Amino acid sequence: MYVINGNKNSPNTLLILSGIHGNEYSPCILSNKICNNIELISELKQHYNEIIFLSNINKEGLINNTREFINIDLNRIYQYDFSTIDNIKKAIEKSTHIIDLHSSPHCDNFILINNTNTANSYVEYAIENDINYLIYDQYNEYTIKHQTQLQNKISITFEMNGINFISIDNILNAEIQLNKILKTFHTINVVKSYPKYKSQTIITAIEDGLHYINEHKQLVCLTLDNIEHIYNIIVDKDFIATYPIKSYYKKSETIILIQKYNQLI
Ligand SMILES: [Zn+2]
Repeated sequence: MYVINGNKNSPNTLLILSGIHGNEYSPCILSNKICNNIELISELKQHYNEIIFLSNINKEGLINNTREFINIDLNRIYQYDFSTIDNIKKAIEKSTHIIDLHSSPHCDNFILINNTNTANSYVEYAIENDINYLIYDQYNEYTIKHQTQLQNKISITFEMNGINFISIDNILNAEIQLNKILKTFHTINVVKSYPKYKSQTIITAIEDGLHYINEHKQLVCLTLDNIEHIYNIIVDKDFIATYPIKSYYKKSETIILIQKYNQLI
């Protein structure tokens, strides 16, 4: 744990988490870049009494390129109670503002917003500050984000592009977005209300095959018999995340998540 002292008169404490998932390397690099950005840190020190970095959390996972920590997803710590996660829980307890850095396959950098009664506030914050976002329906209630939001903390997950590898271009792009977030994060005002923004569209494969987005932003499925099926699925420009990581999809597997930008339900 690395703690930077800031403005004693501020009631706010910022926590930046990285390396919860051992196959997500880019967040660890970005967290270190932020920590060493003297100009940014001195700005953050005005808004927070402490800035806490908890980095490379799942060391075992990072070494072995495995998402979990001994079969446990560290982003579900509120289901468990053992010493490795005490540090995370303690840091969370003293923090008011939490940014948990993650990465996802093939996506733009974005904040992942659970479609709960705090979603409107986070979406409006993202729109106001020109930050990519994706509103997600099928969230897990045991994530650090969800649990800390239930404790009325300001809490987001920031997703970077790419799992299992490190690309410096991706990290530099993500750094621009994350700097924007860090400079404005203390201004978020979370009000609970019924979620009014449209959540993500989930597109599933209707046949087995190699799925990809072609140069016309169409979704293509090439079957192993070399029959090509083309779908015009992207009515706006914003496809944010795809999964799983592989390119051969079986019928009914999720191919892509799309956030319809700025539309109300
Ligand atoms: Zn993750």
